[in-house]
Amino acid sequence: MELPSATERNLKKTFEFCANYSKNYFNTECCALIGLKGKSQYHVQIVANRSPEPMSFFTIDPVDYLNFASQYKVLFIFHSHPHTESSFSDLDKENSEAVCVPFLMYSVQDNKFALYIPENHDLDVNILNKAKGLI
Ligand SMILES: [Zn+2]
Repeated sequence: MELPSATERNLKKTFEFCANYSKNYFNTECCALIGLKGKSQYHVQIVANRSPEPMSFFTIDPVDYLNFASQYKVLFIFHSHPHTESSFSDLDKENSEAVCVPFLMYSVQDNKFALYIPENHDLDVNILNKAKGLI
């Protein structure tokens, strides 16, 4: 099944896309990849949560990740917290550090985003500041 995706000129719209999807599918942690398309467009792709416990954890299929990364420069890995607050779990932080990609998270419960920036990453500082301004 083809999962929803969108291309936007505006980073805020990709964040809103993730939040709206998460509000509609609040029985599971939703996952998405956000990337740069060309120089000035953002692409967001919802991906399946492969965790055996998708209410409380998320797992992205490496094939989905590689497919996306072959077409777009990966900016953020997104997941939702359907029924917990907008703070990152230790596991979230460890995973972000391990893959060196910032994690964007949206808590449906709090209606709030959070951003985790790992120690090592190659995200453009302007995009990072834009994202911080949206949190
Ligand atoms: Zn989490």
